[in-house]
Amino acid sequence: MSYNSNNIFAKIIRGELDCNKIYEDDKIIAFNDIAPVAPVHILVIPKLECRNFTDFINLATSEDITYFFNKVSEIANLNSPSGFRIITNNGKDADQTVEHFHIHIIGGSKLKALAC
Ligand code: AMP
Repeated sequence: MSYNSNNIFAKIIRGELDCNKIYEDDKIIAFNDIAPVAPVHILVIPKLECRNFTDFINLATSEDITYFFNKVSEIANLNSPSGFRIITNNGKDADQTVEHFHIHIIGGSKLKALAC
């Protein structure tokens, strides 16, 4: 399956849909999740056409991958300095609902332990 440029996050990148923006540059956007599961729930997306984490690793340059994860770290530590969790849902079995790669940064309070 190929990338579908009608997905919600592609529309946010193109400025066709509003978001509660935390940070933007020429490579990434970070914005608040519309249905937060914790006091801090930020989504970070690259401005590249990749459906999921696997696509991102396969399609992006090492430079872009390093840049992206450095920004995730910067944004997470700035907005949730006493700890955070980063998650990405990749594919159907993980319940990925938006087919544009994104990292969830979750924090801002004590998080429940994961059952894994
Ligand atoms: P996932 O289930 O991992 O694909 O995550 C998609 C996330 O996008 C969910 O946590 C949604 O609440 C969030 N979401 C969906 N639409 C929007 C939107 N327009 N603005 C911000 N977050 C959104």
